[in-house]
Amino acid sequence: MKKKFIHINVFCYLCIAAFLAITITTSIKSGYPWATTCYNCVLGRQICPLGIDPYGFISAAITNDPEIYVDATNIRMRLGNAIDIDPEMILRLPDKSLITAKQLALIKKDMDYEVTTCRIKVKDAATFCPLCGNCDRVCPINLPVLKIIKDLKDDGKF
Ligand code: SF4
Repeated sequence: MKKKFIHINVFCYLCIAAFLAITITTSIKSGYPWATTCYNCVLGRQICPLGIDPYGFISAAITNDPEIYVDATNIRMRLGNAIDIDPEMILRLPDKSLITAKQLALIKKDMDYEVTTCRIKVKDAATFCPLCGNCDRVCPINLPVLKIIKDLKDDGKF
């Protein structure tokens, strides 16, 4: 019985080690190995004027993937813009229900209709960010999140 528990422990340690090795490798590839030290305190999320969860930028850096989606609950644009940027982006309607941009376009037809985002790709969130710096200011371990945002603003890539 004791031997069985030792095997389970060893297996768990190996899984954790593999997970850490993968995240460290991908964060080094993105150029932001320090991103792995973020513990997602959620302070930045409460202070972002666009409702962006800054941990989305950190996650993109850790996974080396700017195409992942992030909560962004207060970005406004025309429906036509939303379709051009990403037809799969998730919008929040005035009655609080969620819908993708392409689904709303089928119903609305009016491309000037103003929409509010709910979830968008990290690289797209970066293009809307005015670089106010709030997320850097509130970070308890002084991570320079703005560096990632500025990097993605250039061309949507790391
Ligand atoms: S810098 Fe951008 S992501 Fe950070 S709080 Fe300001 S608007 Fe939000």
